[in-house]
Amino acid sequence: MRGKGNLRPGSAGSIFTLVAMALLAIFAAGAVASTGGAPTPGGSPPPPGSATGAPATAPSAGTLTLVAAETTPRRSFYFGYRYPRLSYTIGSSQPLNDLRIDIVNAAGEVVKTFYREDVAPNVADKIRWDGTTAEGKPARNGHYSFQIGPQTPAPPARKATTSTALSLSFTFYGYSFPVLGPHEFSLGAGRFGAPRSGHTHEGQDVMAECGTPLVAARGGKVQYAGFQYAAGNYVVIDGRGTPNDFMYAHLAEPSPLHTGDTVRTGQPIGIVGETGDATACHLHFEMWGPPGWYEGGSPFDPLPELEKWDRYS
Ligand SMILES: [Zn+2]
Repeated sequence: MRGKGNLRPGSAGSIFTLVAMALLAIFAAGAVASTGGAPTPGGSPPPPGSATGAPATAPSAGTLTLVAAETTPRRSFYFGYRYPRLSYTIGSSQPLNDLRIDIVNAAGEVVKTFYREDVAPNVADKIRWDGTTAEGKPARNGHYSFQIGPQTPAPPARKATTSTALSLSFTFYGYSFPVLGPHEFSLGAGRFGAPRSGHTHEGQDVMAECGTPLVAARGGKVQYAGFQYAAGNYVVIDGRGTPNDFMYAHLAEPSPLHTGDTVRTGQPIGIVGETGDATACHLHFEMWGPPGWYEGGSPFDPLPELEKWDRYS
């Protein structure tokens, strides 16, 4: 329940973007990124997704079957620790096959396509999707499936006559609910826009026991982490793939994050507290529209978003 104070914004550098682009370029040159599915240490950017490739000039494929397919994890988040990854093995009447692997949403629409040339039967291959659509936008929440087929117009590969279970589907979300524990939305004085002396409440309060872990609702870059008399220990995250900034206040201890850090969706950012101008343990959560927190943007009511994320978390 912080008051409006003199918060200091950090500088929004573009160094990370350049590094990420350089990494993408490196991986685009190779075939498939080699990093496994295990979470890499927080604070470093997630591994890039697999290169999408390009259609073959004279696509060719045999009669395809799917010998094996496994998708891990079954649930993941945009800019989170682990991207949806498909390990698959085809069977084919040809030694080399030009494949397309589509990410298909629940409505049956293809949101992204990967092209693979000269794929041999009975050899495992991997695809990792970074959660962006063909237009480069974060994909919508929902159920998705990998679909493997030839590049030539023909039906997708069918399951081979083996006892291997195929897992091609997964769920994908853009945001994590930030409070990992029992919580309650404050619907009175803790609402966005509730009166304060000389101003209005710029966030939504989420009541939870002190010590409850907090995670980043959306990863990105830490725009500022510090202490302020009203906000207490707080952290502001410039959300990746969104024009919005996210602010978390009254943390019991200084956030383990520092200004400029890269943070992933779902990464721990601190614990619930009552530092600063707070009379009970809670998270004060703000969302700011473009161009962002103390960069000319304005806060808006985050409760509808919080309620949405809470339902699937
Ligand atoms: Zn508040």
